[in-house]
Amino acid sequence: METLKIMNPATGEILKEISCHTEQEIKLILENGQTGFKKWAKVNAHERSRLLKDWARKIQEHKAELAEIITKENGKPLSEAVGEINYATSYIDWYAEEAVRIYGRTIPASSETKRIVVSRQPIGMVAAITPWNFPAAMMTRKAAPALAAGCSFVVKPAEETPLTTMRLIELAHEVGIPTDVIQYVNGQGPVVGKLFTDSEFIRKITFTGSTPVGKVLMKNSAETVKHLTMELGGHAPLIIVEDADLDYAVSQTIISKFRNAGQTCVCANRILVDENVIEAFSEKLTAAVNKLTVGNGMDTNVDIGPIINEKGFNKIVAQVEDAVAKGAEVLTGNKYDVNKEQSSFFVYPTVLKNIDVSMAIMQEETFGPIAPIISFKTIEEAVEIANSTPYGLAAYFFTNDYRVGMYLHDHLDFGIIGWNDGAPSAAHSPFGGMKESGLGREGGIEGIEPYLETKYLSIGNLV
Ligand code: NAP
Repeated sequence: METLKIMNPATGEILKEISCHTEQEIKLILENGQTGFKKWAKVNAHERSRLLKDWARKIQEHKAELAEIITKENGKPLSEAVGEINYATSYIDWYAEEAVRIYGRTIPASSETKRIVVSRQPIGMVAAITPWNFPAAMMTRKAAPALAAGCSFVVKPAEETPLTTMRLIELAHEVGIPTDVIQYVNGQGPVVGKLFTDSEFIRKITFTGSTPVGKVLMKNSAETVKHLTMELGGHAPLIIVEDADLDYAVSQTIISKFRNAGQTCVCANRILVDENVIEAFSEKLTAAVNKLTVGNGMDTNVDIGPIINEKGFNKIVAQVEDAVAKGAEVLTGNKYDVNKEQSSFFVYPTVLKNIDVSMAIMQEETFGPIAPIISFKTIEEAVEIANSTPYGLAAYFFTNDYRVGMYLHDHLDFGIIGWNDGAPSAAHSPFGGMKESGLGREGGIEGIEPYLETKYLSIGNLV
């Protein structure tokens, strides 16, 4: 039987060895999920809501334990892991409230003898595939609306970080959410993904991960016409307009760029600065970056943990080397702390200037603590650079001029926009991307819609 060794990316310590589910086991899990769906769909919305609230409370009671699991398997600093547990819980709280607000409607008929009623029902069994960078939040953002809507749920976590998911699901079972209503599968992405897309029981795939894998899932889902939510890659621009409050903008840039060592889909990857303030902004950003500390996320006062694995590390180094070879100036960083024997890869936060659009770092998602600064002359030029990739997830800009702000809002092709805000994500807001960054939204009132079918009833021959 194949196993997964879960490793602490800061130390190389093997945290646990777990078995991958076999094909037979996965098929049984999906059959159970179908049985679970039939029962769960009939549980009244107030009871589903109550169980979700109990799950949220239980997670909060286990916050310290869960945060430690996240930090050990993912590497992010413990304070960020605590923040992730709170963020993950906020989705369960939000959708516990939405469970009792799934309304239908009536439509005035065109005949006196007819009535038209529209009702909503759960879509069926939902399969989720999640990434390693937010092992708790990317799961609850999907599980909570699915369960609230009356769907059953099965998730395949990333191979690097299954322990958080497994523990969260144990806690769901402990509060009484049935074991066949929320389940996990451990295994390799392509193998499990194919079993999910081929399954007759699964009616919806919800995926958070890279754009290429999202495209594979979309193709494979066509055969059984599954519903899809795709939260894919991003390459966020962060625009500093001439009038911006630079100190504030720097503090927000640090939050957006360096959280989770820059391994987030919404992190600022391309920093566009008006040529009249580029010197001042670069100096202030470099000074702030020099205060960030790198190390094991379990140690106090660490800001930047390790990169998840060697593949991710190599991509970051290649982007920096490419930029430097093409003329980028290193203002700070470009330093690494590598121990290949224990598979630990640390990248010091790096600021690069003299960037141009020919560099790989301006075209491909970075997923590392590298801040490339490019200058622009006009707002129109900034918009053109910002929109010039296939991605459209998040964008940020800093200005106190409301006309410029609204122009940027109107012209940036991104699903999430932070105006003087480096951290816009929230459970009550619709999160998702345009273009090749994805399909659908998670969070907010929009986030439950993808788990619901609309059924239209026309009653005739009435008196
Ligand atoms: P990834 O390689 O796409 O993996 C994500 C998940 O997909 C993992 O569970 C992985 O399983 C699975 N997978 C891999 N190949 C598969 C296949 N052929 N069929 C089905 N599943 C497959 O992405 P990642 O490197 O872990 O995560 C980083 C990416 O996620 C970035 O692009 C980031 O922007 C994106 N992301 C997007 C959002 C958003 O909301 N838009 C949020 C967070 C992250 P294995 O672990 O077994 O390979």
